[in-house]
Amino acid sequence: MLKLEHVNKIYGERHALNDVNITFPEHKTTVIVGPSGSGKSTLLRSLNLLERPENGLYHFDDLTLDFSQPISEKNVLQLRRQTGMVFQSFNLFPHLTVLKNVTEAPIHVLKQAPAIATSTAKALLAQVGLADKADQFPTALSGGQQQRVAIARALAMKPKYMFFDEPTSALDPELEADVLRVLLKLAQEHNSMIVVTHNMEFAKGVADQIIFLEEGEILYSGDPQTFFTEPTERIHDFLSAMN
Ligand code: ATP
Ligand code: MG
Repeated sequence: MLKLEHVNKIYGERHALNDVNITFPEHKTTVIVGPSGSGKSTLLRSLNLLERPENGLYHFDDLTLDFSQPISEKNVLQLRRQTGMVFQSFNLFPHLTVLKNVTEAPIHVLKQAPAIATSTAKALLAQVGLADKADQFPTALSGGQQQRVAIARALAMKPKYMFFDEPTSALDPELEADVLRVLLKLAQEHNSMIVVTHNMEFAKGVADQIIFLEEGEILYSGDPQTFFTEPTERIHDFLSAMN
């Protein structure tokens, strides 16, 4: 279980996260939505410790971090090992084949035997629909295919939680669909996921829990049904602008 309590992140005058209190349940998909600049990426990056909030508590299973205190390297590594992140830009290693992109960290970080890492990677590539691309280099792939490699690469580390920050916003709509299908399948298999997206149709279909952020504050957290069918006035305005 992953939980934030009274978390604040401030950039100069801007309260990027304002007293954020939220639990991300295991084996569920939480979708984060909200206007541009509302703090969605800051929230995900804080969960991965790419950002350090000024204060608040972060619970990850039995581990509790107090953001107002220094965080040890050991805790940072421990937490990063358990969280996989997929960004808007795919950031594949250009000089490595698709297969090697996926096996790199399991072999060098997790110290898996190469034969095992390779067979796991092939299974993951098949899972994201890219079994036939294993020996290609990233430049030979479409953006949507590259993003699916990035997902396979994150999954290869067997993280407890997967974070996705607008994984399809750099893609053309026809390529977006393939990536969203992979995410939906992962959600249906009860992986623990947190997804930032601007795609409300997708959010509706995939979310077990939905969070609406505005100016760093959580204005809604709860079931997607209520969010979409009985929105507050502010959320109604947001949803109308998205369509
Ligand atoms: P988008 O939908 O455009 O990706 P977002 O909801 O992900 O937006 P964040 O990137 O989390 O928003 O930014 C939240 C606020 O914090 C914004 O006002 C942004 O300008 C500010 N911010 C984010 N990162 C930094 C930084 N490194 N330095 C200063 N301000 C920052
Ligand atoms: Mg963002």
